[in-house]
Amino acid sequence: MPTEVVMTSKAVDRFVTRLIEEGPVMGPRERRKQPGFAKFDWIESADELMLQYTTTTVPPKKAFFPPRQPLFEFELTVPPKITPLEEATPFTLVGVHTCDLAGLNMLDDAYAKEPAEAVWPAARARARIIGVDCMPDEYCFCFDTCAGREGCDLFFTPIEHGYLVEVITEAGEDMLRLSDVSRAREDDLNDARNFAAEKGQRITAGIRSSAGDFADILEEGTFEDLWREIAERCYSCGSCNTTCPTCFCFDINDEFDLGLTAGRRVRTWDSCQLQEFALVAGGHNFRRIRWQRVRHRWHRKFLYLYREFDHPYCTGCGRCSRACTADINIVDVSNEIIERARGSEQS
Ligand code: SF4
Ligand code: SF4
Repeated sequence: MPTEVVMTSKAVDRFVTRLIEEGPVMGPRERRKQPGFAKFDWIESADELMLQYTTTTVPPKKAFFPPRQPLFEFELTVPPKITPLEEATPFTLVGVHTCDLAGLNMLDDAYAKEPAEAVWPAARARARIIGVDCMPDEYCFCFDTCAGREGCDLFFTPIEHGYLVEVITEAGEDMLRLSDVSRAREDDLNDARNFAAEKGQRITAGIRSSAGDFADILEEGTFEDLWREIAERCYSCGSCNTTCPTCFCFDINDEFDLGLTAGRRVRTWDSCQLQEFALVAGGHNFRRIRWQRVRHRWHRKFLYLYREFDHPYCTGCGRCSRACTADINIVDVSNEIIERARGSEQS
């Protein structure tokens, strides 16, 4: 099979219907209370899938790492009885934007660091992924991630009569067997190139420094005045973390049944912007004051994890800026830091 084929919109419907017959499918579905906007959810019929959508509020990492995830059940017998709650069903995740593919790849790396986390890779191994290209809005600043294909099995680009489908892996090739596709012609390839070019032109936001220089700026400067200014507006609500495709922190709690002899261990998404995040036994809180938590978010994304993985832990998706009711915009704040650093260099 050639590595690029064409699928008409009607053929996409038939293809998705067949995927649903094979097993669960998660993808972007129009929000009932917010028409025109999508959220990742389980799809029951092909017409529910909204393949062309602007960035969802919650990223597709939730397919592998749900906001609330029971890990095992326990009974306090002697010895205690543990029953793992492992999900084993294979599924297909459809309609993942390039920035979100990058986010999934970053979480692969983060969770693989020793001591490695086991639940995430097991969930990833169960899934086939289909990526789709998109048009940015004013919050997107995804220059570095928007051409990537790594992490998906098939990649769809909208063209005049449907989609240009790139076959990325053998699993992708298998998915296309029995599907109604035709060989891509030069016109189709040109359509896809034009789409990518228009996408590039529409990205207007950007951090005005290289990732390496920005890490150095954060490391060398203090910017305490700026962190304090931002903290006066920040509510410590944590939405910037819970909408972020690269945030991977979680909390673990044991939930007991009423009889207190059995229960389950549950992990939930956590946020470094919440006051109790850095509270430790004995009552000390390493980031009790809000500006310290605001600073930590920038240091974490653009300094600490940059040093560890050689790239920022930010895909440029813009979700944190869209979600922030205090209008704290990650690009604006980053550029303000850069301006102040350059200003102090010159003075
Ligand atoms: S979403 Fe905005 S207000 Fe909420 S914690 Fe993040 S920066 Fe602060
Ligand atoms: S920090 Fe903001 S822009 Fe960067 S990946 Fe997270 S949500 Fe997206």
